[in-house]
Amino acid sequence: MDKNIKNEVEYCINCKNKPCKNACPLQNDIPLFIKLLKEEKYKEAYEVLCDTTVLPSICGRICPHSKQCQGSCTRGIKSQPVQIGKIESYIADMAIKEKWNIQKTSNILEGKKVAVVGSGPSSLTCAAYLAKNGCKVTIFERYSELGGLLYYGIPEFRLDKRILKESIDKILELGIDVVKNYSLDINKLEKEYDAIYLGIGANISASMGIPGENLDGVYGGNELLENKNFPNFKGKRVAVIGGGNVAMDVSRTIKRLGADKVYVIYRRSREQMPAEDVEVKESINEEIEFLFQNNIVSIIGDKKVEKIECIKTELVKKENDSRLSPVNIEGSNYTIDMDYVIMAVGSKADEKTISSLGVDTDKFGKIKIDENNMTSREKVFAGGDVISQKATVAWAAISGREAANSIIKYLRR
Ligand code: SF4
Repeated sequence: MDKNIKNEVEYCINCKNKPCKNACPLQNDIPLFIKLLKEEKYKEAYEVLCDTTVLPSICGRICPHSKQCQGSCTRGIKSQPVQIGKIESYIADMAIKEKWNIQKTSNILEGKKVAVVGSGPSSLTCAAYLAKNGCKVTIFERYSELGGLLYYGIPEFRLDKRILKESIDKILELGIDVVKNYSLDINKLEKEYDAIYLGIGANISASMGIPGENLDGVYGGNELLENKNFPNFKGKRVAVIGGGNVAMDVSRTIKRLGADKVYVIYRRSREQMPAEDVEVKESINEEIEFLFQNNIVSIIGDKKVEKIECIKTELVKKENDSRLSPVNIEGSNYTIDMDYVIMAVGSKADEKTISSLGVDTDKFGKIKIDENNMTSREKVFAGGDVISQKATVAWAAISGREAANSIIKYLRR
């Protein structure tokens, strides 16, 4: 075993109450797989991971560990937490190298066919848990590459495409078929399959509705990362609005493309940022400037962005809200010269696609599901970012796994 990983494994005290497992959205049995590693039972450790996840190489690298498992690690109370993500990706990488398969668990869905639309983390997880139970699964992907936001939304410097491909190949080895460059026709799928899972994501950047948002030079962060169709940022001043991982990914990408100055403007405090702490630290190391407790109120320019107007905020306690909320400080407005503004304040589903599906939606325009992960349309299930839930890879994966369990129940009723 790698010396650093061995040190981390030995550092774990195998807590009986498993706080790390309880803080993991997927409920990975972290104490158990670390115990098996201590006993040098590597393959068994991988199999424990596979009970709850099929994306350990990826989650081990890009999950917000400090807000999930590592944030609850007992070791972290007095010192550093166990580096659980590094241990997870180490054992998952070993599985790829040693060609250990994801084990099938049953044949209860033999003879059943399920169409999985999309190939992001929720779809890959749903497809894998169905195939593990003997189902014939076909993944339908609209692009030429599999992975959804893992491929198109996360830059290479954060997730190596080779690791992603190897992880997907391992899932496909369960006997899953793939149709790429697919244009969604739900009526046809409905006739041909016993059930359908919609994991089509929500990758349209939300807007703020502030003056000047239609000027040239204003872009959505999701679209920039997805299409990689960047304007010439060389020597330019760029404001990225938002505090999540998309804001971090897009600001670091733009800095690498030669921008002179990249600001991240976030209306809350650093502690309140949804982005993983390590991503914020990396961004600061790369000389991205953070304007915490600042809010953009307008974008100024003739046809194109020339300046932005911001206002400072204070954090106040509001009734029935456990979080401190940002409130603009009257009279603290100021302007900064700017060439581009990138909106990374959240994402929404593609309205046109959703409206073609004939399913009910919620007030955010996302697909509504019931307690069995089924949409308002019989035999059509949904999960991942296209339903309203927390948008991290692990949360997408758990919703794919839960939907697979619901589909299994539905097909065996
Ligand atoms: S909380 Fe930390 S020390 Fe305890 S079992 Fe989990 S990883 Fe090990």
